[in-house]
Amino acid sequence: MNTSTVADKSTPYWWEAAPVKPLPRQPLAKKLDVVILGAGFAGLAAGMVLAREGRSVAAFDAMHPGEGASSRNGGVTSGTIRPDFATMSKHFGEERALAVEYEGKAAREFLYEFIRTEGLDCDFKLVGHFKGALGYNQYDKMARSADRLAKLLAVDSYAVPHASQRDYIGTDFYRGGTVRMDIGGLHPAKLHAELLRVALASGLTVHANTPVTAITREGDGFRVTTPAGVVQARQVLVCTNGYTDGAVPYLRRRLVPVRARIIATEVLAPELMARLMPKLMMMGESRHLGFYYRPSPDGTRILLGGRDSSRQGDPAAPTLRLRAGLAEIFPELEAVRLAHSWYGNVAMNRDMIPRIFEKDGLVYASGFCGSGVVWAPWVGMRAAYKLMGRAEQARSAFDFRPPAAVPLYRGNPWFMPAIIKGYAVQDQIAWWRTRR
Ligand SMILES: Cc1cc2nc3c(=O)[nH]c(=O)nc-3n(C[C@H](O)[C@H](O)[C@H](O)COP(=O)(O)OP(=O)(O)OC[C@H]3O[C@@H](n4cnc5c(N)ncnc54)[C@H](O)[C@@H]3O)c2cc1C
Repeated sequence: MNTSTVADKSTPYWWEAAPVKPLPRQPLAKKLDVVILGAGFAGLAAGMVLAREGRSVAAFDAMHPGEGASSRNGGVTSGTIRPDFATMSKHFGEERALAVEYEGKAAREFLYEFIRTEGLDCDFKLVGHFKGALGYNQYDKMARSADRLAKLLAVDSYAVPHASQRDYIGTDFYRGGTVRMDIGGLHPAKLHAELLRVALASGLTVHANTPVTAITREGDGFRVTTPAGVVQARQVLVCTNGYTDGAVPYLRRRLVPVRARIIATEVLAPELMARLMPKLMMMGESRHLGFYYRPSPDGTRILLGGRDSSRQGDPAAPTLRLRAGLAEIFPELEAVRLAHSWYGNVAMNRDMIPRIFEKDGLVYASGFCGSGVVWAPWVGMRAAYKLMGRAEQARSAFDFRPPAAVPLYRGNPWFMPAIIKGYAVQDQIAWWRTRR
């Protein structure tokens, strides 16, 4: 049994309104100031900045532009970092942990302003985000965290007790939750198409379906090899994230691609949508293998995302797991038909912090750990300023030493099933503790 037996389509719901498509072939320049690998959010944002500053720049993508994670994601403008504040402080010091929190706020605000000023038509709505608590202990902790966020960063953030939960979400599955109003939702494939439009208009050349196969030092620049020919580039920026391949072995040893999946329901009755998602907010929870979910931009369906433990083919099991998760949260949807189920790759590094770094003259911008709608354009732009030597505009809490290599890893994440099993056990223990 595979995905197409449990959902009508195995392509992203987003591609119905904004299909990814090939671009016309472009002549290959012999020499360029900058070559970018990857034309997702990060590569396009960087290319746009560089082109607007007068650099000759081309982005190469192995697939259609956007066919990576940028047109497949949930469109939640989370801009969050996986490790919590305490963990980040322990590993990197409180100063960097604080800087990361501030940068999250700045990056989110920047994205919203960028969408507005560039006139990007991508169904963006700042609707807020509800996070459900699995138990009353967790609720108390989350409520304190919401309070801290409000005080520290002046974010409109507050706790919602169980008694008023149904004003936000039509379920009794959670024991209350928290809301933050600085997170919203958008249509990711439309955002990508619009970013492509403004990047091309700014002078970026995009070579679609043209993988970079090798990068070697030549003189004071690089020789970049592609099936379409060879380019001499003064600088190279790598924005390949969860699709990183053997062309950049240094990064490949540091980023583990992990499949993530989203299901989209059929169109639901308006009364049912109003009951389940009365405020049409983005939603999430805190289990390792938990779910995030949202209404479609037109408010007619529910999209729910989570981990996909498969590594090959497109088996039905991950879709069935997400479907069971949807029914656990919303029992009314137990028999709902699924219109779409699809997957894409996110990129995890060992410390779960996105990165800009330089190694042997190449600059890298990646490691968004499943939260790149806000981070990828932001980090891509900081990396572009770094290439231009603009220290002030390039400044970022994510620009520091490269992430550590993953031991015994060369591109085949053989250890992922064991890690996912470990997470499942941790979730089970946390569930038992909080609900007993
Ligand atoms: C199912 C799913 C749900 C998600 N949900 C959310 C969400 O709700 N909110 C959120 O913030 N984030 C989410 N994310 C994460 C987010 O989509 C990514 O972090 C973001 O899109 C990364 O953008 P990027 O430009 O770095 O990489 P990508 O968009 O993945 O682009 C990388 C590109 O590099 C190209 N490439 C690789 N190797 C080469 C090479 N050798 N030569 C040329 N090109 C190459 C690939 O073809 C690919 O197109 C989700 C991701 C997935 C998969």
